[in-house]
Amino acid sequence: MTALRIDGSGIARDLRARLAERATELANAGHRPGLAVILVGDDAASQIYVRNKIKACEETGIRSLLEKYEASFGEAELLARIAALNADTNVHGILVQMPLPKHIDPGRVIEAISVTKDVDGYSIESAGRLVTGLPGFKPCTPWGCMKLIESTGIDLRGKHAVVIGRSNTVGKPMALMLLQADATVTICHSRTPDLAGQTRDADVIVAAVGRRNTLTAAMVKPGAVVIDVGMNHIPEGEPRAGKLCGDVDFAGVCEVASAITPVPGGVGPMTIAMLLANTVESAQRYAQGAPRLV
Ligand code: NAP
Repeated sequence: MTALRIDGSGIARDLRARLAERATELANAGHRPGLAVILVGDDAASQIYVRNKIKACEETGIRSLLEKYEASFGEAELLARIAALNADTNVHGILVQMPLPKHIDPGRVIEAISVTKDVDGYSIESAGRLVTGLPGFKPCTPWGCMKLIESTGIDLRGKHAVVIGRSNTVGKPMALMLLQADATVTICHSRTPDLAGQTRDADVIVAAVGRRNTLTAAMVKPGAVVIDVGMNHIPEGEPRAGKLCGDVDFAGVCEVASAITPVPGGVGPMTIAMLLANTVESAQRYAQGAPRLV
């Protein structure tokens, strides 16, 4: 079997085109979607992530508001900026790029963002809404993974889904979304004694670990759908050194799975697309005069 290669870039492109249409409609009605992005410090990777998000906003017709501060920027000042953005009716989403400098408590910062503008879906209230099935913003990466799984046409009801990784931003919300889609979900992590025993029974596997070759062909049931969230770099001395790769042995698993996401070009583009989707959704709520999530 050679697996279908799930085209995350193409799916994200189509979604972004539809979002651009919605953004134009909202703008024409006087409610142009707006996303505020706050970057504190000069972390090189963060600068790239922020640049990509701003560019994606521009291409989608979302007004972006970039606020860049020195690494010495104080927590109190940052909280004051968030309070001002919470009150700004032209801003529908607020994103604070992580990591923050050590003297700033990321939890306090995330909790300061209004839940109606928490387009990253990282706050405790957004997480609680996901757990209880209430409306709210879903974390962008796992939500993007759900869209990729849906694109394969698989009916998740009653299927066994295995999520490898239990972070608050990827693994746990991923498991909750799969559960909400009526899958039977197993969450694995570094203390799981027999990872292969779990994954070999799975109809859907989501790998969100951050370690190359965590999932190999021998660990996958024939016909499974495999989503690779991992972002790793191939070490020096190996072919394609320095290039990006996922957690999955792509070539090997391609021979066993029915569908698989590549890295790059799989989950990554969807993460940004879902951020735009959340921002447009938020603007729509504000336009309807009901920003509260109920
Ligand atoms: P994280 O917070 O470091 O979590 C990694 C998880 O993997 C932890 O739960 C850890 O278990 C588990 N783990 C580590 N070694 C394992 C092993 N040998 N077997 C089974 N589980 C193991 O990372 P994250 O933020 O969730 O991100 C995961 C990966 O996705 C990273 O490569 C990250 O760069 C990537 N990522 C990509 C995107 C995207 O847009 N493409 C977005 C976010 C993240 P413990 O909890 O027991 O330590």
